[in-house]
Amino acid sequence: MYKRILLKLSGESLMGSKQYGIDEVRLSEYAQQIKEIADKGIQIGIVIGGGNIFRGLSGAGKGFDRVKGDQMGMLATTINALGLSSALQSIGQKARVLTAINMFPIGEQYSKWRAIELMEQGEIAILAGGTGCPYFTTDTGSALRGIEIEADVMLKGTRVDGIYTADPEKDPTATKFDKITYDEIYQKGLKVMDLTATTLCRDNKLPIIVFNMDKPGNLVKVMNGENIGTLVYEK
Ligand code: UDP
Repeated sequence: MYKRILLKLSGESLMGSKQYGIDEVRLSEYAQQIKEIADKGIQIGIVIGGGNIFRGLSGAGKGFDRVKGDQMGMLATTINALGLSSALQSIGQKARVLTAINMFPIGEQYSKWRAIELMEQGEIAILAGGTGCPYFTTDTGSALRGIEIEADVMLKGTRVDGIYTADPEKDPTATKFDKITYDEIYQKGLKVMDLTATTLCRDNKLPIIVFNMDKPGNLVKVMNGENIGTLVYEK
């Protein structure tokens, strides 16, 4: 049983059935799933993406300065973090937004110790703004924060059931791995997360579970040890 987890949620999934922005139904489903495991006493840190609003790289393709584009992306993650904290609070779950970059009073500035203090008090620490640096992703941000807050595992919530031999949305013959080592991810060239994030997890022995967060009830199943996703581990 895990005592403390880092949950990574993708911004894109927050769109739900919409083309852009935040789908309130998806947001409240996420909040319910998260509260369900918080009620079991699990300490939860959350890193959320911003791809439903803005991505630096696609901005750069349209003529934006890359660093400014990435800063826009980091602000997008903060918008999502505020939305999630609000959805959690509305169902009676305390949550606090901590930001990688100082933007008080939108959130308090992140530090490892503040995050741990809040989680130990039963609040969910939503860690916004990724790493605070351009040229990184929120996957890398969640690997970094997972290590910093001494999480037992990083749960990467996606819209697919785990890691497959090929993209299951494109290749119907793709099969799912129940577990896989970090090295196999490199060797097979699997696109699970960017390599910076995978390497950070491997070098610091943070296991990852990739699972489908868009099916309500899955988060609690993963926490109960049900084998519904893919575990990434070191041999
Ligand atoms: N970003 C960044 N540094 C970080 C994390 C994120 O610059 O440490 C920016 C980057 O532009 C990225 C955007 O924020 O494209 C949104 O994050 P991401 O693409 O990881 O979101 P997701 O794909 O999970 O929705």
